[in-house]
Amino acid sequence: MSWLPCRCGYIFHDNTDFLRFKAYFRADQDTDDFFCQVEDILKNQKLSAEDKAHEILCVADFHYTNRILYQCPECGRLFVEDNDGHYHCFTPESEETNHRLLESAEGENWKGMLYADWTFPKPEWSEHPGYLSVNINGEERQSFAFDDYEALRKKFYDLFQKLSGQKKLRSALLRKNKEQIFRWSDDE
Ligand SMILES: [Zn+2]
Repeated sequence: MSWLPCRCGYIFHDNTDFLRFKAYFRADQDTDDFFCQVEDILKNQKLSAEDKAHEILCVADFHYTNRILYQCPECGRLFVEDNDGHYHCFTPESEETNHRLLESAEGENWKGMLYADWTFPKPEWSEHPGYLSVNINGEERQSFAFDDYEALRKKFYDLFQKLSGQKKLRSALLRKNKEQIFRWSDDE
């Protein structure tokens, strides 16, 4: 599903990863079967480590934990997907209900990504030659447009220094005319 309208007017856009208003869930009735299958895959000596990882992802992703929950950040309504892919909406009982129930267990310490791209001359489909996008404090991705490479570069490195210093980044990438100028990942 790429978008879902909430009755309050908010529209869920589900066209990117790491959404703070989205979660996956697994039925308790499936939990045992899921872990048994994972165990079988891990014990299978015919599979390489890479194959095992792939098989486990398939079992998790396509069968047992692929049903989705969305919570509206504006009104707190919860949308629960059934086994046929239809969504059922539930309204919070009171105004005090937390509207951020589905965000990461890391909360504001969730590690985001910093990405900047410069293409000059700008492609026809693009309004600006430069774009920078960043997730901060577990919020939705923010995007900034640039017409000057130096300004883009400065914003990128300023944000990189600040966010990596706070341990709030998992990866960062700066590209200029398809060439990688800077690449960083916290697990390297
Ligand atoms: Zn809503």
